[in-house]
Amino acid sequence: MEKKDMIYEGKAKKVYATDDPTEVIVSYKDDATALDGLKRGSIAGKGVVNNKMSNYLMQILEKHGVPTHFVKELSDRETLVKRVSIVPLEVIIRNISAGSFSKKYGVEEGIVFESPTIEFSYKNDELHDPLINEYHALALKLATKEEIDTIKSMAFKVNEVLKEYFINLGIKLVDFKLEFGRLPDGKIVLADEISPDTCRFWDAKTNEKLDKDRFRRDMGGVEEAYQEMMRRVFGK
Ligand code: UDP
Repeated sequence: MEKKDMIYEGKAKKVYATDDPTEVIVSYKDDATALDGLKRGSIAGKGVVNNKMSNYLMQILEKHGVPTHFVKELSDRETLVKRVSIVPLEVIIRNISAGSFSKKYGVEEGIVFESPTIEFSYKNDELHDPLINEYHALALKLATKEEIDTIKSMAFKVNEVLKEYFINLGIKLVDFKLEFGRLPDGKIVLADEISPDTCRFWDAKTNEKLDKDRFRRDMGGVEEAYQEMMRRVFGK
């Protein structure tokens, strides 16, 4: 698979065309941003952790019947994925209160919910990714009713599979963000990444944070947290 022109550069990844118009190469960077782009930095080794962990989790999800964009890991930082058009929604699932939920609703972090919550943000940097509901998504023509229903059921399925997977590694899956894409035939697949950049992971015994919150909140031990998650997943 030949890597051709860079077609997109985001905050944490670059995307390259290939000689197959239906596939692209994603290259994970160590660059990190937070607080709506206000905070910038670098987390050594993050690109490798996120690439490998995301690929591994997507393959687990495929086994459980969740279609994803994953095709093939090419190297420590690069992966071949199906080319999709991204549905401009950030889909957030929460099992335990944290982050913006705690802030917005004035509750402490760590409340375990009876059922998971789902929320949508309109993926739009200029508007700072405003929170919307599914009626807004329909009105803004971000997705069809059928697509939204599919995305919701896929997102909850991802949660069930990953919550169970991580608890067996001694990790609480607190919350996470997913993105979905459309294949040329209209089929919805899970896209983007699933990593400590996009999930909150707490140690099940100590509640130690093992994710990007250590960077967002200047807690130190950022690289170590990413490496610890790598060890839990790959056992080394
Ligand atoms: N998240 C993300 N990208 C975003 C916003 C949130 O990956 O642009 C993830 C974040 O890592 C967390 C979950 O979504 O696992 C919920 O984030 P929250 O709404 O609490 O926002 P935050 O407190 O991170 O600003």
